[in-house]
Amino acid sequence: MPKYIFVTGGVVSSVGKGVTVASIGRLLKSRGISIAAMKLDPYLNVDPGTMNPYQHGECFVTEDGAEADLDLGHYERFIDTNLSRDSNVTTGQVYSSIISNERRGDYLGGTIQVIPHVTNEIKSRIQRMAQRAGTETVIAEVGGVVGDIEGQPFLEAIRQLHREIGSENALYIHVTLLPYINSTQELKTKPTQHSVRDLRSIGIHPDVVVCRSDYPVSDDLKEKIALFCDVDRRAVIPLLTVDTIYEVPLILEAAGLGDYITERLGLPSHRPNWGQWEGLIERIRKPKPSLSIGVVGKYVELHDAYLSVREALTHAALFHDRELNIEWIDSEQLTPETVERRLSHLNGILVPGGFGPRGIEGKILAARFARERRVPYLGLCLGLQILVIEFARNVLGLTHANSTEFDPLTPDPVIDLLETQRGVNDKGGTMRLGAYPCRVFPNSRAGRAYGEAEVRERHRHRWEFNNRYRDALEAAGLAVSGTLPDGSLVEIVEVTDHPWMLGCQFHPEFKSRPTRPHPLFRDFVGAAACTLREGDQPALPIEQNLLAEVGGLPGRVS
Ligand code: GLN
Repeated sequence: MPKYIFVTGGVVSSVGKGVTVASIGRLLKSRGISIAAMKLDPYLNVDPGTMNPYQHGECFVTEDGAEADLDLGHYERFIDTNLSRDSNVTTGQVYSSIISNERRGDYLGGTIQVIPHVTNEIKSRIQRMAQRAGTETVIAEVGGVVGDIEGQPFLEAIRQLHREIGSENALYIHVTLLPYINSTQELKTKPTQHSVRDLRSIGIHPDVVVCRSDYPVSDDLKEKIALFCDVDRRAVIPLLTVDTIYEVPLILEAAGLGDYITERLGLPSHRPNWGQWEGLIERIRKPKPSLSIGVVGKYVELHDAYLSVREALTHAALFHDRELNIEWIDSEQLTPETVERRLSHLNGILVPGGFGPRGIEGKILAARFARERRVPYLGLCLGLQILVIEFARNVLGLTHANSTEFDPLTPDPVIDLLETQRGVNDKGGTMRLGAYPCRVFPNSRAGRAYGEAEVRERHRHRWEFNNRYRDALEAAGLAVSGTLPDGSLVEIVEVTDHPWMLGCQFHPEFKSRPTRPHPLFRDFVGAAACTLREGDQPALPIEQNLLAEVGGLPGRVS
């Protein structure tokens, strides 16, 4: 009988419920328990693929091509697993399938209602996760907070499921915030009491309350929360704000949550193995020389829009024992006048994915700066397209080269719509999505990074390198170093006469793990770590192997 852990939120959103769920996954994985994690999102969109990153942050992509909530990225990174489209259920998906069943006549004669039709559909999707081979425990996070109108069918579904499978097989965890009142210098529990009361009024009695706070939670306060929320004293778990999210699993472990969950659910009580994770935290805490990477994008005030990019850079910097300093650079602010001032102190430049013409010329300036000044550059998806446009304009001399996404009438469409995208009008779920194989050429930076002839990487795009320009670009020094195995689509390009300048049409950031940085991020950051900017002193012995590979120090070192 699989076990279920349902996680709800109280008081306010954005208190790190996704990281808490991912960390609970890690608590169980460290005990050798096989888990499946999922996010239940109450909004009416079918998926976040059509949402503005300002509203929803990054759109995560799974191996099987689902455009999913960014919390799935936390789950994958913490649990070290690849999830699928089944891991993200939205109200939009639930209603779409019920309505198409109704149109087919499946409910002939019946009136379709939230209970039982909607709740049954939600329950069956949760239970589908448990049917995956070998799954011992399903962790399901309900998005939003208790009291949201859209969330009610999901809460009702987990209430029914709990009742059906029995309390020995299911656990409710409620994640709340203890606000701090500055004038009286105290943490308040009242909002937590209220949100637990709301939960109980709909028949959900939490077993564990995780209390996020910016200040330490005293024993008296824990006692009070246990009493008012009617949970075990051991089940009140304080979770103080931390510098790095990767500490959260160890904090929850130290607070006894792993043991409490396994006891309550009768899961095997293996001793947890934290060796690798503790090593990670040690690396994070250790003082290290710093490294500045500029991320040139258009959602730079909102770092969640580039969440996986930030994490992948963090993993790679840890690998090289560097303290990562990311500078978020608004591409709309980059002009020929500002580019020198904004970019000259950076060790590396990254252009992430993006859509639409806003800020494109600034990104092209950043790519030009990186190429001409020999600063390591990594281009992700749109970042590859920018690299190609810049190279075509300034090396091949095709001054009006562009992507037809930004200039449909360009005389030199070096980036053009994928053949398979012609005639596609719907916006939702219709891009080239998910993992495709990529053949990597051995004598290239990509080949050396991967050390494998074929890899699988995740995509989310409609435009592509235009093969009509391939010969001319290659002759001018832009090497193609990865293609679809049949050779039809270019997936990786690199500038040959440069220490490290590479673009990939896919999103390697989705596959990076804290203890296993993605090879392209690893080598990009490795090259950046070898870059000395004017006035820098080498703080650590510079990696000789990397230096040998990049053919000497890049940057403005005399
Ligand atoms: N807008 C570009 C395309 O659709 C790049 C997409 C991306 O960066 N994810 O091809």
